[in-house]
Amino acid sequence: ERAFRVTASAVGRGTGLYVLVFKDQSEARRIDRMRADFIANASHELRTPLASISGFVETLRGPARDDAAARDHFLQIMQNQTVRMARLIDDLLSLSRLEMRPTLKPGVRIDLRGLVQNVIDSLAPLAAETGVSIERDFPDMTLEVYGDRDELFQVFENLLENACKYGQSGGRVAISIAGPLSSPEGETTVTIRDFGPGIAEEHIPRLTERFYRVDAGASRAQKGTGLGLAIVKHILARHNARLSIRSTLGEGAAFTVHFPPA
Ligand code: ADP
Repeated sequence: ERAFRVTASAVGRGTGLYVLVFKDQSEARRIDRMRADFIANASHELRTPLASISGFVETLRGPARDDAAARDHFLQIMQNQTVRMARLIDDLLSLSRLEMRPTLKPGVRIDLRGLVQNVIDSLAPLAAETGVSIERDFPDMTLEVYGDRDELFQVFENLLENACKYGQSGGRVAISIAGPLSSPEGETTVTIRDFGPGIAEEHIPRLTERFYRVDAGASRAQKGTGLGLAIVKHILARHNARLSIRSTLGEGAAFTVHFPPA
């Protein structure tokens, strides 16, 4: 559906001639609608843990008042829900900060191997918890990209965390870095591959949408906000980089970050 705003202005006094300006409003309306959807989704996602906490508070003040075992169990659930809410708020703040500053300040030179290794180290506890072993395939030479270190850390952290969470049945995750000589476009790439259930083709283009989660049931069993890949996409755009996703159902998924030639 297309929408136009029309304004008329007289060309000159008494000429009887007018100029009509048609301004296409479709894009503005689409953005308004997206914003409204986003607020509705965010509110819903925040309300869910809050409703759960509120329910348990009521139970603890009433029927479970004198039941020590139930009390501990419910307090644990409430604590998990507050962690979930805090995560959601952090992700929402990250997204809004990124959207407010769509371009990046001049970046610094970053050693890609060192950065990716730091991410692997920081996720070692999650890998151990999910029983995933992380395999590396790094080139012998130093590869550098320009950008914001914290933001790129967040990109690889999100991708590796997803690979460990969703691909845990595969038992391993492979991270490879390839230099500009490995691709015809001269791109430097980082690929994070898992061997879990994979993602059906129709979902792939939508994964970077805010709050989009495949199979709400299975995804919801995993801690997550549905904002991780949206944040990844924004950060990469600021770096003139991009994400590509390949997957075969039942065989796993591969997420590749492509950095253009310097
Ligand atoms: P979440 O917080 O839910 O992990 P993301 O934006 O990081 O949010 O991911 C969006 C959805 O993409 C996930 O909920 C999951 O359904 C799907 N997904 C992401 N990574 C993988 C993967 N490695 N294997 C299978 N599905 C994945």
